[in-house]
Amino acid sequence: MLTTQNGLVLRQRSCGENDKFLDILTDGEGLIEVFARGVKKQNSKNASVSQPFCYAKFCVNETEGRTVLNSAEPIRTFFALSSDIGKFALANYFAETVLYISTREKPNNEVLRLILNCLHFLTLGTREPLLMKATFEFRLMSEIGLIPNLIGCCACLKYDAPTMQFDLRGGRLFCEDCIGPRDLSETEALDRRLLHYLRFIALTDMQRLFNLKVPKEYLEVLSGITERYCEIQLDRHFQTLDFFKSMTKR
Ligand SMILES: [Zn+2]
Repeated sequence: MLTTQNGLVLRQRSCGENDKFLDILTDGEGLIEVFARGVKKQNSKNASVSQPFCYAKFCVNETEGRTVLNSAEPIRTFFALSSDIGKFALANYFAETVLYISTREKPNNEVLRLILNCLHFLTLGTREPLLMKATFEFRLMSEIGLIPNLIGCCACLKYDAPTMQFDLRGGRLFCEDCIGPRDLSETEALDRRLLHYLRFIALTDMQRLFNLKVPKEYLEVLSGITERYCEIQLDRHFQTLDFFKSMTKR
């Protein structure tokens, strides 16, 4: 049976001399594995759509228990990212993270929207890569149900304070009065601006999400916090992140 859906190629795996398996995040079925026959041949009509960071309308065929690529029409490609090793490394980190959290038959269109938007702005170059990293990491946690409680101090409900402690494992805030004597190795101190940025990324509409402006001096610390939150919540360290850092070390 032929079906059609829009999807973003996140990963390719070589199979024999001419074929590939593609992991595609689709809007209809979540993550799917697609067998792409002959696409490593240069004259294959599906060669260019069978590469990571191609967003296309894929027509696939369910046959003998596997999903086989029939044809595809590109909607938007992000291949230009490969000309900038730092951005390309970041895009690969996004892809690895989404592959890790996505499941088959469980579409999460907000996750697809998020990664498409992040790739779009990375390609366009109008947003700092570190801001896209922080936005991706923290918003992804919101979209998959790991949203922290950022409304106020979890003990006294205070909404605003010069400093709040963000408990990364518990996903909650403590004000300085309520933090008490505790192990602070998995907390981050947030000033008002950092807390505002985190609230904005976690809670604002997707349409407004990319309007956030963060001054350069805050980017590194914001990105460090979202990265730690993501790593602690997912209990996972991504090698593509190490590669991104090694490529962008100053
Ligand atoms: Zn409090």
